[in-house]
This record gives sequence, C-alpha cells and structure tokens, in this order.
Amino acid sequence: MSLPHVAIVGATGAVGIEMLRCLERRQFPVGQLTLLASARSAGKKLLFRGQEHLVQELTPASFAGVTIALFSAGGGISRDFAPHAVAAGAVVVDNSSAFRMDDRVPLVVPEINAADALRHSGIIANPNCSTAIALMALYPLHQVFGVKRVFASTYQAVSGTGAQAIAELAAQTRAWAAEARAWDDAKLATPPQVYPHQIAFNALPQVDSFLPSGYTKEEMKMEQEGRKIMHHAAFKASVTCVRVPVFRSHSIAISAEFEKPITAAAARAVLEQAPGLDVIDDPARQQYPLALDVAGRDHCAVGRLRQDCALDNGLAFWVVGDQLLKGAALNAVQIAELLL
Ligand code: NAP
Repeated sequence: MSLPHVAIVGATGAVGIEMLRCLERRQFPVGQLTLLASARSAGKKLLFRGQEHLVQELTPASFAGVTIALFSAGGGISRDFAPHAVAAGAVVVDNSSAFRMDDRVPLVVPEINAADALRHSGIIANPNCSTAIALMALYPLHQVFGVKRVFASTYQAVSGTGAQAIAELAAQTRAWAAEARAWDDAKLATPPQVYPHQIAFNALPQVDSFLPSGYTKEEMKMEQEGRKIMHHAAFKASVTCVRVPVFRSHSIAISAEFEKPITAAAARAVLEQAPGLDVIDDPARQQYPLALDVAGRDHCAVGRLRQDCALDNGLAFWVVGDQLLKGAALNAVQIAELLL
C-alpha cells in the first residue's frame, strides 16, 4: 500500500507549522506532502525532514491525490474547502470550529473517544483547545467518579489566536521596555490590532465574541464539546475564558463536582494512570504545572489537587497544556494516526 499523501491547509500558521513538526517528530508515514496557504505565502519554503517544500496557494483543485488533509486556516476556509478535499477522496481532520457540533462529524480526543474517529463520513473535527486540555484530566476522573458539572477559568496564551497575536504581545512588551517606562506606566499609546485591548501586562476576560447569555462562544465550548466527546449529555460547565500575556500553553483552574465522593489522593491515583497526562503536584516544594514548562511538550500536566471546599463531592485542580500541540496540531496528527 502506498504511503499517505498528506496536505496541510494553513501550513504557514502557528498551528500549521506545529502540524509539520508533529508529522516529522512522530515519524508519520508521509508519502507525499502538499503545503497550502493563502496567495500571500505562495512560493515560501518550509522544511520537512531536511527538505524544502514549496507552499502553494489553496484552490479547490489543491486536493488531487490527497488522502489526509489537515485543515488549520480558520472556519471559513474549512467550510469552503473541506468539501472539495472530501470530494477528491481525502479524509479531512479539521482544526476549526466549523464542523465540531455537526452530528455527522466525529469530535475526537484520541485518549478519550478514538473509536468515534472511525465513524467519519469524510471529516473529523479537532476540539477547542481549552476543552481538549481540560478533558485530558477531567475525563479520567469522570470515568471513576462521574462528573456532574464544572466551574472553570482559563488563562489562555496568545498563540491560541495565531501568529499575529504572538507578534502583538512581543511588540507591546518590547515597546514598553524600549521606552524604559515605570511599572505603573504600562498602558501604551499605540492601539492594539488583534485584541480589543492591550494584552501586554493585562488580563482580558474576553476570548471570542459574546452571546446573548453573556458568556462568550469560547466559554460555551467546554460544555457543548465536552458533552459530545465524553458521550455525557448532562455534563454542565460554567466557564470564564481569560486571555493572558503568556506566549504558549493554556492553563485552566477547574472545580468539578462528581456523583461519587472524591478525595485528592483518590483523584491522584486515577490521574497518575491517565494517558498523555503528567501529575505535577508537590505544593510543599512549590511544584505544580507551569505554562513555561509545559510549552513544547506533548503531555498535559495536572496539579494543585485538592478537595473542593465549596462543592459536594468536589475536586479543585489546575491543568496546563500546550494548546498548539494537544489543543491543535498534536491532536490532529494523533487523529490522522488512527486513520492509518
Ligand atoms: P494563524 O497563525 O493566523 O494561521 C492561519 C493560517 O491560515 C496561515 O497559514 C494562513 O496563511 C492561512 N490562511 C489564512 N487565510 C487563508 C486563505 N484565504 N486561504 C488559504 N490559507 C489561508 O492561525 P492559527 O493559530 O494557526 O489557527 C488556525 C486555525 O486553527 C484556526 O481555525 C484556529 O481557530 C484553529 N486553532 C488554533 C489553535 C491555536 O492554538 N492557535 C488551537 C486550536 C485551534 P498565510 O500565512 O498565507 O496568511
């Protein structure tokens, strides 16, 4: 059997570049590689296994002969071009939110519901980044203790917004330092381009747009996507998503309420066996998961395990994951591995 012909749509983006690295690092059996982006990037070269590959402009005809197409160029591009890829015979793994809640499209975290991936009709969706990272710790606990609901706050890195947001945080931080400003004079005159407010030295309680309920779209994904991935229709999640001036890795503080009694020790025993997850939880030595340490790593990490003092059968914990990897590129490549 010939090796898969893999296409990456959005190959030049923050996630696309990581997809390329994941394919290489995990020795995915790539027969042929097609790198696609906008006309702006056509002609750029990206390295894969030591060889330069030309980036081409995405068109409806880009998918001839492609067997697996990893999409990461935004929901609009996925809606417009994924059907062309499927018509050409490819299986699409889509990183956008375009198809996640479509009943015909499996939404997959391989450590949780790998079997769902095989029931696809051409498209498989990759979950929201914070949801995937939260579920890496929540699902193993759910299997033993039965989760009812969670209250969560996210601390989301700027690379979750893409390459332009990374540049914006870097530029604002450099501008503040270059002007040798005092600590209490951190508000810059230059207006932000990507976020509605300055992100450097700030915390923005808005990720994505607001819904009539007052929650943002991002905040509702944990409940909606969590129900689908865990096959748990009654799961409830009240989430506040916050963008913080961190370059890479999302952190999430979760208070979860379970059907069965839970202790920190019992939770730790479960989480220590969970795939793709490290337990880093030694408060006496100030050891807990940190965005800077988890950045660039495939595993998510959980710590600060404690019995929640405000919930019955509750556990509070802190989970951190590299959202470019487990929240995007790595999860997509893991899904592609299920298709081999
Ligand atoms: P990004 O850094 O802004 O990259 C966007 C990519 O899409 C670039 O390769 C860009 O190509 C390409 N693109 C834009 N317009 C295009 C067009 N008209 N035709 C073809 N390609 C086009 O964004 P990102 O952070 O990688 O995110 C990409 C997708 O992944 C989004 O749907 C996002 O919601 C999702 N996602 C991101 C993360 C994350 O942590 N960043 C996590 C989960 C999901 P050019 O370079 O030519 O402009």
